[in-house]
Amino acid sequence: MATKFSYDNCMDKIVYLTFDDGPDKNTPYILDLLKKYNINATFFNLGIQEEKNPELVKRIVSEGHSLGNHTWSHDPAIYTNVSTFIQEVKKTFDFQKKLIDMEPDKIFRFPFGSNKATKESIKIIQDHGYNYIDWNVYLQDGSRNPSAQKAFELAINGVETCKDTPVILTHCEREDKTGPLEALEPIIVELKNRGYSFKRIKQTDKLIRLN
Ligand SMILES: [Zn+2]
Repeated sequence: MATKFSYDNCMDKIVYLTFDDGPDKNTPYILDLLKKYNINATFFNLGIQEEKNPELVKRIVSEGHSLGNHTWSHDPAIYTNVSTFIQEVKKTFDFQKKLIDMEPDKIFRFPFGSNKATKESIKIIQDHGYNYIDWNVYLQDGSRNPSAQKAFELAINGVETCKDTPVILTHCEREDKTGPLEALEPIIVELKNRGYSFKRIKQTDKLIRLN
């Protein structure tokens, strides 16, 4: 099947894979896959999950991936008070720093996306020197339960029609939603076949923001 590409806004065929809400029991499988294909990704972890899986945090970093901050608890109530919010971010940062024995990059993803965050929380995260990143390709494994085939199509079509550099959002922690996890290897293989290279997010990267 012939494929027509449109890269009006991206000269390079780059894609960013991001995994939220971990680390958890699926993370070793994800890391094994990334290693198998020799690619890097970004993990927006929760402190509460890192506390349960500290070895996985170290593994993420030692295998060359980016360690992002996604607050400590992901509780929607974090947005009700800006000081609670930044405390959650700092607590996660400090926990990561202690675990990996160096300052983690200040890359952040707002729980539910920056379009659901308050103006005050966006201001304070920037005042603290964080780069925040949302997503523009989503495997719908938050509220819905897509099949592997559906997740695959969402990824490939999403990347191919992306007006900006594609940032794919999927999750580590999905107890009952195995479709996107099953689709991960086919997605990587297909995008590689289509000439994409995978990068990890760095603190200075200017990528999709929803707000
Ligand atoms: Zn999340």
